[in-house]
Amino acid sequence: MMERKNIIHVYFPSREEERLSAINSLSRDGVKMLLCHGISNHKNAFVCDCRKKDCKSTGKHPIQEFFPNGEHSATLEEAYIKKALKKYPNANLAVVVDGFFVIDVDGPEGMKFVKGLSLPPTFRVKTGRGCHYYFKGKLPDNLKKLEQIDLKTKGYVMFAGSRHKSGVYYRRAV
Ligand SMILES: [Zn+2]
Repeated sequence: MMERKNIIHVYFPSREEERLSAINSLSRDGVKMLLCHGISNHKNAFVCDCRKKDCKSTGKHPIQEFFPNGEHSATLEEAYIKKALKKYPNANLAVVVDGFFVIDVDGPEGMKFVKGLSLPPTFRVKTGRGCHYYFKGKLPDNLKKLEQIDLKTKGYVMFAGSRHKSGVYYRRAV
């Protein structure tokens, strides 16, 4: 029989726990948040919760009811985000890019290039096909524009706990 004591117990937080702890940290760090329509399974496909057939921004557009001016309605108020989340429990969480920038790597070629740059360790979020690298201060010198690399210096990006239209969840990379 297997010895129980040899089993390593690793705790993985649920999507709910991850999202709530993210909201708390972001609020403390002064990063404004907003909620976007989430992604649901519907007839063997992933669809935007706005349920518009012609949705052009699946899982990435702000929930009008709580964020009527999109990113300009973004807030640091934890209670407001939680209230919105209560009404839209499947919502995606987005953060406004301000005071930092995000290298959005989308695809295997981009990942290969960025890994070769030996960037300093930083906060990362795994996305649908790549990774978001969060940076403060000066841009890395050796960063060049590639098809699968997008530099975001304004607007908003989807945060950990959100779901991509491919069905994949954005997770904090550890
Ligand atoms: Zn939509």
